[in-house]
Amino acid sequence: MSVRELVVLGTASQVPTRHRNHNGYLLRWDGHGLLFDPGEGTQRQMLRAGVAAHDLNRICVTHFHGDHSLGLAGVIQRINLDQVPHQVTAHYPASGQHFFERLRYATAYRESVELTEAPVAEDGRVAVTEAFTLEARRLSHPVESFGYRLVEPDGRRLLPERLAAHGIKGPDVGRIQREGALDGVTLEEVSEVRRGQRFAFVMDTRLCDGVHALAEGADMLVIESTFLDADVRLARDHGHLTAGQAAAVARDAGVRHLVLTHFSQRYSDPSEFERQARAAGFEGELSIAQDLMRVPVPKR
Ligand SMILES: [Zn+2]
Repeated sequence: MSVRELVVLGTASQVPTRHRNHNGYLLRWDGHGLLFDPGEGTQRQMLRAGVAAHDLNRICVTHFHGDHSLGLAGVIQRINLDQVPHQVTAHYPASGQHFFERLRYATAYRESVELTEAPVAEDGRVAVTEAFTLEARRLSHPVESFGYRLVEPDGRRLLPERLAAHGIKGPDVGRIQREGALDGVTLEEVSEVRRGQRFAFVMDTRLCDGVHALAEGADMLVIESTFLDADVRLARDHGHLTAGQAAAVARDAGVRHLVLTHFSQRYSDPSEFERQARAAGFEGELSIAQDLMRVPVPKR
């Protein structure tokens, strides 16, 4: 069974609280694991969430503030300690290369794993695999920040009534899928486009083109909502979003499942984020993230 889910490791902005760890998010995408923005304490949160170093194939950092990157030191050392047998690739803003190197080599350890540095310098594709394309878009924050988006290629869904109309059955069904045509009947005639799934990760930014571009058509959007709407000026000045702004982006982009996170410690009642997201007119599935929450990517 292929699993596509978000495992929330931490949800606090700036400083951890009694109930929220610094940021950290694992996306399980079939057999592939992408760790986003590992803040301080991510290694222990992985343990609590049942995530092993072996589960990680990629690490994606939006920007080099501590709540999004201080966990790199621990996670990278753990990948080496556990001798993860596969290559791990790290994506992060190229302007923060020196921060990445400091975190990677923060203390002495034995380096045994192939960790590929893949800094992001501009908008566009950062990785293309058989299963998905990973794209980055520049955001708007006091330090350079990139959001990420994972796009699965479109596939085709077979239509049983069309197959039957052409008398295609049994092993021939597999043949037409593999070969694209059978006895003059094309795959297009007996199937329809099944749009690939999309996952977007938008962290630490004020509203900008990149936010909308990343969110467009996302099945799941994980997005910061540091502030409540009453503090919209504070949000803009510090390069952040409010719950209402984040939800309006999701509404306009046709997002199916919205995950709000990265909450300021100044607020004590998470339900207010939910109320403001709904007030902004977002009608899809909505999660107000909590540490160790698991959120399945909506079924196609
Ligand atoms: Zn932050």
